[in-house]
Amino acid sequence: MQKKVFITRSILPDGAELLRARGYKVDVSELDRPMTYEELKSKAHGYDALITMLNDRIDEAFLKSNSHLKVISNYAVGFNNIDIKMASSLKIPIGNTPDVLTEATAEVALGLMIAASRNFLSAERSGEQGQWKNWHPTEHLGFALSGKTLGVVGFGRIGLRLASMCARAFNMKIIYVANSEKENSLAAIKVELSELLSKSDFISLHLPLNCTTKNMIGKAEFDSMKKNAVLVNTARGEIVDQAALIKALKENTIFAAGLDVTDPEPLPIENELFKLKNAIVLPHIGSATYEARRAMSILAAKNIIAGLEDHELEAWVNKKDLLP
Ligand code: NAP
Repeated sequence: MQKKVFITRSILPDGAELLRARGYKVDVSELDRPMTYEELKSKAHGYDALITMLNDRIDEAFLKSNSHLKVISNYAVGFNNIDIKMASSLKIPIGNTPDVLTEATAEVALGLMIAASRNFLSAERSGEQGQWKNWHPTEHLGFALSGKTLGVVGFGRIGLRLASMCARAFNMKIIYVANSEKENSLAAIKVELSELLSKSDFISLHLPLNCTTKNMIGKAEFDSMKKNAVLVNTARGEIVDQAALIKALKENTIFAAGLDVTDPEPLPIENELFKLKNAIVLPHIGSATYEARRAMSILAAKNIIAGLEDHELEAWVNKKDLLP
């Protein structure tokens, strides 16, 4: 019988085309919004495989109710929306889309470093609001990147790529935090988090969200940062204690923040972060280039094909749990 794949949101069509060319029936959600948990849970009953988005909650109850699924491929590198342990115990392979979005996300992190440290947002708003009267010698002053110290928290694919951009283009000194030491050609040094926080001019977060990283950056961490520090978060909003961040920005404990991710998402319009002059907030666009999203669509589909045809997934999150 023809196998059926469901894609929970309309993504670039390359992946669906690949799946159809392989002979699978592919349906794509026609809703211009994420499906609700209940909608997706019941829809999945009629399919063999799913391509899911980072905001689809694939928890224990979802998986138990859909234990027939042959494979789930998450259209993201992060997989904090999926109960991996439960998927493994039900023998459902989980795929994700690493590498293909590294460049795009590192570019957004770099963009946020510059935008936040050079006051792009408040400078742009001042023009819009009619306050651009003349060239001003002391308004909108910020901090340069050149020669400064970048602290990378999570020195994996994206953290390393950002570090490389900053070392090569801005001659920045790189220090990092990770579970293990990483060989690199950037003279980047592994340090303890406390040292990174107190020495860095720019701090960029690139960790996965899990129970050890949730709220990792809170009041004590902000208090130990430099006054000129710029915090950039393109990882996940929940890694930062957002109330503590807002306080630190309001009290100028740190200079500025550039965020591509928040808690919650979408961030409600009345949230204080939108009102602060020293915070720039993007709506989770890290991987939003045509190149990256096309490659993600293809990789997500390749994972599905491998899962349905009993091969190893190209990007396999729970490989260790499922391979004999
Ligand atoms: P990655 O290659 O797996 O890198 C993660 C890094 O975090 C590794 O260096 C890892 O160290 C380190 N790490 C993990 N847990 C840690 C802990 N408790 N303490 C210190 N270091 C820890 O992942 P990636 O591809 O760079 O992606 C990073 C994250 O970015 C993803 O998980 C995702 O949530 C987010 N992301 C967001 C966007 C966006 O659109 N904004 C796009 C892509 C990704 P070890 O290797 O030593 O274990």
